[in-house]
Formats: sequence, structure tokens, C-alpha cells
Amino acid sequence: MRTERNASLKPYNTFGLDVTAERLYHLESEMDLVEYLDDPRGYAQHALLLGGGSNMLLAGNIKGSVARVAWTGRRVVEEGDGFVVVEAAAGENWHRFVQWTVDQGWGGLQNLSLIPGLVGTAPVQNVGAYGVETKDSLHALRWMRWEDGEIEEFSNADCGFGYRESVFKGALRDQGVILSVQFKLTTKDHALLTHYGSVAEELAAAGREPSLRSIADAVIAIRQSKLPNPAELGNSGSFFKNPTVSAEWAANLAAAHPSLPQYPQPDGRVKLAAGWLIEQTGWKGKRVGNAGMHAKQALVLVNYGGATANELVAVAHQVQHDVQAAFGVALEMEVNLIGAAPSA
Ligand SMILES: Cc1cc2nc3c(=O)[nH]c(=O)nc-3n(C[C@H](O)[C@H](O)[C@H](O)COP(=O)(O)OP(=O)(O)OC[C@H]3O[C@@H](n4cnc5c(N)ncnc54)[C@H](O)[C@@H]3O)c2cc1C
Repeated sequence: MRTERNASLKPYNTFGLDVTAERLYHLESEMDLVEYLDDPRGYAQHALLLGGGSNMLLAGNIKGSVARVAWTGRRVVEEGDGFVVVEAAAGENWHRFVQWTVDQGWGGLQNLSLIPGLVGTAPVQNVGAYGVETKDSLHALRWMRWEDGEIEEFSNADCGFGYRESVFKGALRDQGVILSVQFKLTTKDHALLTHYGSVAEELAAAGREPSLRSIADAVIAIRQSKLPNPAELGNSGSFFKNPTVSAEWAANLAAAHPSLPQYPQPDGRVKLAAGWLIEQTGWKGKRVGNAGMHAKQALVLVNYGGATANELVAVAHQVQHDVQAAFGVALEMEVNLIGAAPSA
């Protein structure tokens, strides 16, 4: 098992924060994970489970052990009439896995192209984009409990999926690790969703008919044009969740702000666009020192270079404060704050 002492985590988090881990364990197989559990300086001093580091803000140097998910592998588990079940190890790169499924002619994940991170983390916040969520094709997953090393199989229903939520982010948070994930994908009669975002327009502009590949390519092109590339500008994608409010509160807000985008939910509540709320408070493109909200996407907190975690957290808290003051709406962070207070 490969381990480092006082390792910089800069290459392992998309905010590009140069914090250190007292000990960094690169877990390149499930056997490494077993060794990590048994090592007296391993899980006994566990501080953080690290995937691709694209959904966390590391607020400071980490004392203790960081376990980095790095085991890979993928296989076909079952083939049937019109479907295939594929399994990928937690350490597989999500985007490369999605492109592989598209290249095989398997449908379900194409709209989730170019999302950073690893396969094992996709279920944690039920990763979603362009009208599709991980839960739509997740078949089952294997999960290991830290406490006793027991491995359990979870069905889709067991995962407690919701908007950017799952049981792994809720009741089972920090209790274990997802080892591998199975997806049930279509081999014919694919659902080709093009009506979210500007996918249909992108296809029309490229003169292409909807297909698994053309949709994946369109999503990639749109994301590249709208979202900052973490390799160039540190960020963690959408920093806040889209908030949900009562229908009554949404109506009050709409009376005062007629252009307020509203998305009624099945439970009668109304989802609002966090990016729109942030933009109204003047934060779109606003910068304080080296931290700020992105000029093209108000929802994306950005490290313009050399920002400290404190600077980033201070901006996030100020945005929460300003949106609360202007609209009476609480913005919840989507990104995991590691080692800092969770709200203003
Ligand atoms: C430019 C950009 C765009 C993005 N766009 C989207 C988007 O469109 N939609 C979307 O939903 N998200 C998006 N994200 C957020 C992010 O890519 C996803 O949340 C992704 O799934 C995080 O994966 P990761 O491996 O990097 O997780 P990490 O940041 O490493 O970990 C996130 C959390 O999961 C835990 N964890 C990690 N691995 C495991 C495991 N194997 N088992 C259990 N827990 C684990 C960690 O301890 C941590 O609490 C975007 C991020 C960026 C930077």
C-alpha cells in the first residue's frame, strides 16, 4: 500500500487548496482498504475519505489519516433483452466511465458527461445534470462499514436518493465507503433527453440527430463553454443547492420579483434557482481578494489563484447572508466543508 507523510493534497482537490495530510493512504485495491483498516496508524486515526476531491472544500491541514479511493476496474455483470448491468469500482474516473458506456452503445449516463469525480462518489450526492440523476440508472452498490469491515449490498431503493441527497450523505455519512456501483443501462430504445439546458440547440447547431454520442458531445460542449475548468480555475461546481420554499413564500417572492424562476415540486413546494438569487444580490462575477463567484455562473465559488480556505468560506458565508437578507431564503451548501463551520 502506497502511503505518504505530510502530503500536499493540492493535486487531489479541485479548489486547488494547498493543505497537507499528516498521512495519505493511496488505496489502490480493496485489499489496501483491508490493510488500512488493520493499520494502527490507518483507520484508527482516520480523518477523511477522499475521492476525486471535486465536491469538498478543505478548510485546513488534516491531522490523522486520509484514505484516497484509487481502486479501479469495470465489468459486465448481466446482459438481457434491451439492457446490460455494468459494475465499476469506486475509484474509476466518472467521466471516463460514462464515455466508455456511451462508446459501447449503452444508454442512461450520457447526460452526465464531464462531471468531475469518481464513480464511487456519484451516489453520495446522487449526481445529476441535464435532466438525469445517478438514481435513474443505478442498480445496486456495495458498501463497507468502517466499524467492522462488513460489506453490504444496497439496492436503488436502499440508497434513499433525493435531490443531491442519499443515505450516504445523511444517516450513513462517514460510516463507511462505497466499494463499487452497478448501473442498469439500455442497449436499445434509449431515452434520449434533449429538452434540458440547451442540449437541443447545441445538437441543432452541430447539425446532429439525437443519439447517445451526440448528446454526450453536446453536454460536454455546453459544460466546457459555461463552467470553469478546475485545472485552470479552482472550483467545486455548484457551491449551493437550489433551495426549496413553501408555495406561499414563492408567491410572495414572485409578487416582488416577477422574473423569479420557479419550479413547482410534486410535494407542493417550489424550487428556486440559487444562481438567480445570488445574481440578484450582485455576487455574479464579484470577487473579494482571490475568492469570488464566477462571472458566467453565479452559483460557482471560484479560487482565482492563491485563495485560502478562509477567504473562500468567507465569501460563501457572505453570499448566504445576502440571499437570506434579500429573499428570506436559506442557501444550503452542496459542497462538503471539511474542517470548518457548516454555515454562517
Ligand atoms: C466543474 C465542476 C462541475 C460539477 N458539476 C456537477 C454537476 O453537474 N452535478 C453534480 O451533481 N455535481 C457536480 N459537481 C460536483 C462533483 O463533481 C460531484 O459531487 C462528484 O460526485 C464528486 O466526486 P468526488 O469523487 O470528487 O468526491 P469528493 O469531493 O472526493 O468527496 C465528496 C464526499 O463524498 C465522500 N466520498 C468520497 N468517496 C466516497 C466513497 N467511495 N464512498 C462514500 N463516500 C465517499 C467524501 O468523503 C466526501 O464527503 C461538479 C464539480 C465541479 C468541480
